[in-house]
Amino acid sequence: MPALAHVVPLTPVDGVYTYRVPEAMADEAVPGARVLVPFGRRQITGVVAERVEGSDDKLKPLHDVLDARPALTSELLGLTKWVADYYLCAWGEAVKAALPSGTGVESHRVAHALAPADAWPDDPRGRKLLRALAEANGTGLPVAALADVLGRKSVPQNLLRRMEAAGVLRIDHEVQDAAVTAKTARHLRLGDGAEGAALRGAKQRALLDHLTEAGEVVLQAEALAATGATSSTVKGLVERGLVEAFDAEVERRADGMDAEAVAPAEALDLHPAQTAALAAIVSAIEADRAETFLLHGVTGSGKTEVYLRALRATLDRGETAIVLVPEIALTPQTVRRFRAHFGDRVAVLHSRMSPGERLDAWTRIRDGVYPIVIGPRSAVFAPLENLGLIVVDEEHESSYKQFDPAPRYHARDVAVMRAHRAGAVCVLGSATPSMESVANANAGKYTRLEMPERVPVRGPDGTTRAPAPLPPVRVLDLAREKKVRRLKGALSHELRLAIADRLAKGEQTILLQNRRGYAPVLTCEDCGWTPTCRDCAVSLTVHKTGRNLRCHYCGRAERIPRPCPECGSDDLRQLGAGTQRVEEEIAEVFPAARVLRMDLDTTSRKGAHRRILDAFGRGDADILLGTQMVAKGLDFPRVTLVGVVEADTGMLLPDFRAAERTFQLLAQVAGRAGRHELEGEVLIQTRNPEHPALQFALRHDFHGFALGELAERLALGYPPYGRLIGVELKGPHEGSTRQLAGRWGDALVTEAGKVAGVEVLGPVPALIGRVKRWWRFQILVKTPRTLPASVLASMVRAAEARVSLPSGHRVNLDVDPVGLY
Ligand code: ADP
Ligand code: ZN
Ligand code: ZN
Repeated sequence: MPALAHVVPLTPVDGVYTYRVPEAMADEAVPGARVLVPFGRRQITGVVAERVEGSDDKLKPLHDVLDARPALTSELLGLTKWVADYYLCAWGEAVKAALPSGTGVESHRVAHALAPADAWPDDPRGRKLLRALAEANGTGLPVAALADVLGRKSVPQNLLRRMEAAGVLRIDHEVQDAAVTAKTARHLRLGDGAEGAALRGAKQRALLDHLTEAGEVVLQAEALAATGATSSTVKGLVERGLVEAFDAEVERRADGMDAEAVAPAEALDLHPAQTAALAAIVSAIEADRAETFLLHGVTGSGKTEVYLRALRATLDRGETAIVLVPEIALTPQTVRRFRAHFGDRVAVLHSRMSPGERLDAWTRIRDGVYPIVIGPRSAVFAPLENLGLIVVDEEHESSYKQFDPAPRYHARDVAVMRAHRAGAVCVLGSATPSMESVANANAGKYTRLEMPERVPVRGPDGTTRAPAPLPPVRVLDLAREKKVRRLKGALSHELRLAIADRLAKGEQTILLQNRRGYAPVLTCEDCGWTPTCRDCAVSLTVHKTGRNLRCHYCGRAERIPRPCPECGSDDLRQLGAGTQRVEEEIAEVFPAARVLRMDLDTTSRKGAHRRILDAFGRGDADILLGTQMVAKGLDFPRVTLVGVVEADTGMLLPDFRAAERTFQLLAQVAGRAGRHELEGEVLIQTRNPEHPALQFALRHDFHGFALGELAERLALGYPPYGRLIGVELKGPHEGSTRQLAGRWGDALVTEAGKVAGVEVLGPVPALIGRVKRWWRFQILVKTPRTLPASVLASMVRAAEARVSLPSGHRVNLDVDPVGLY
């Protein structure tokens, strides 16, 4: 029976397209397989969504099947469809998120000359092109490269069309190989007759001995390094048939953990709260019950230990598991703990992997080599089969939400959905759960598990003591400090005393200042002038390194002007303190202290994050100073002081989650102090000592905070009690973007009128009204939670259909938006 295939193109177009399946591809073009299909005049990669019987000669045939085994299981294919429907993107965009990047195959345009250069007398540019094409020896040149030939910025499309029409030039669509492919390397193994053969030299002998000892296949590069042999040694042996050399696929690995021997983990006796939590989780795993747990345990309560045991139970049943961690918490400490338990059965994915490394890891996971995958949000799409468990650690982290490109998904919510669809267990863990998860637990959708105390401390003599108490927190009112003590710098007298005390005792300090750079604002004392970015509506930050100004939105750097370009005054003041300025102040006050700074500027290089943490862990520094990066997931026994330089940085932002964020950050960073035998202390400097987020954090009172915060959200109809969809309109001109936003606003109001309870807020200029030269407006669509997501989605889709998009403008739909616009 002839067959047809519905194919999802991996481009931002909606819908599936139907092709004929040639007889020869019938076995491989199955759902989930990647295929090459004609699409307009191009050829693009798509994924087969469905096979149906039937025939239609008007349909084009598939060109090729790119996978011997389908890239996506039907489970993942179905999940991507859900993601596309829920997050309002094209199915192809969601499928792309589930595949390693750069592996798609696309066609591009290639020009060939059909006539000699003087066949085009009209103009010299055409002759120049024909000459260059003739020199390409029949292979043609990519159209994109023709601009270079003419020394111009863009390709002269009109000229190409005229030349094509005149028959002197042909433009083909040729398929380009995937940008990222599997890597192979030369391997060696013993050939027949190697035994007892007479050998010419010591190097040949050494190499044969090495291969005999290894017993199987070895990498040539490693064998040469181990024996001092050279490739000509190999050649000699291969020619005599004593050694076989061949190319085989190798895996590029980037987790940096292979070389280190990781000691097997010792078995701990679980304490009662851990035992209870684990029992609940394991019983769901063993009953194959798709249940979601909210594991709420204070920092240091032993959540990771519970994940490890739950993973063990999953593997014991022959099932697989995913562990999501925020990128920032993907520290060597975390990875080492999982390696110590599961060794080579863990694949680690992270955003700094090269595309090749990513492809290799993905392929191995797909092949079933690794039953456990750890990674940041995109790991939720790991191609595991027989999934039994998904753990989302630090489930409240906003980095689980992807903003660009689409799909703008929340990995925690996708994890819950994937586990549910796959019949797997999902565990969401946090010391400060999101209000969404708390509400879901309150409603009985998630099973709540509590671990309210830190694990008991084991003393050096092997005895255990009562749990390390959560550290006492003191609040220092900066306004008062300024008045009473004439505070000059960023560090108050009390904080300085506390640091001095730790330095004297040889203990360590973590200082949080959630602003990078030197000074957030430069301003002229005489006229009030402040430098702003030419392309973004934000002021520039002073950076000490290079003594320049930088835009934190687009990265633009400028020299610090002097004098003031407005009024000529020399009195330019740098206001406020970023991490660099705090670092300078520490150096002045404590010249002997060893300080490590960790922020975006010091961690941009691969591996830098890890080097800083390793150095601090070894005790190479007394103080770890940084942005929110220092607040998360770290566990250093000698840290007894945590200082928050300015708790106010995120507190007063016009975002309904500002208080939640502030509470989370303060509770998390406070949890870094005194985790082991040594007692800890936390000092928080603030200008808003009465702020509820701070007051509850001070008492380590999560439930008190959540109660008040949820009541407020309910009153205002915000998540978790309301649904939000953000509509962001971007364009090159203020006027045209405002108009587009107005048309969208009208369309949304019209559609919203058909559904009860929908509110349309805006359009308004976005908080940062211009970023990287794009003008930005936004609209928020808000409904009660009781309105199903699908109703809201179709309403927004209907509005979208009413508004045509002028060229050069964009619309971003963001379902369940997180953070500021
Ligand atoms: P969390 O993930 O909740 O912050 P961890 O699992 O990292 O907590 O545990 C904190 C520390 O306590 C770790 O050093 C861990 O090895 C140790 N630990 C956890 N559970 C136990 C236990 N049952 N007995 C002894 N030590 C434990
Ligand atoms: Zn001035
Ligand atoms: Zn900028």
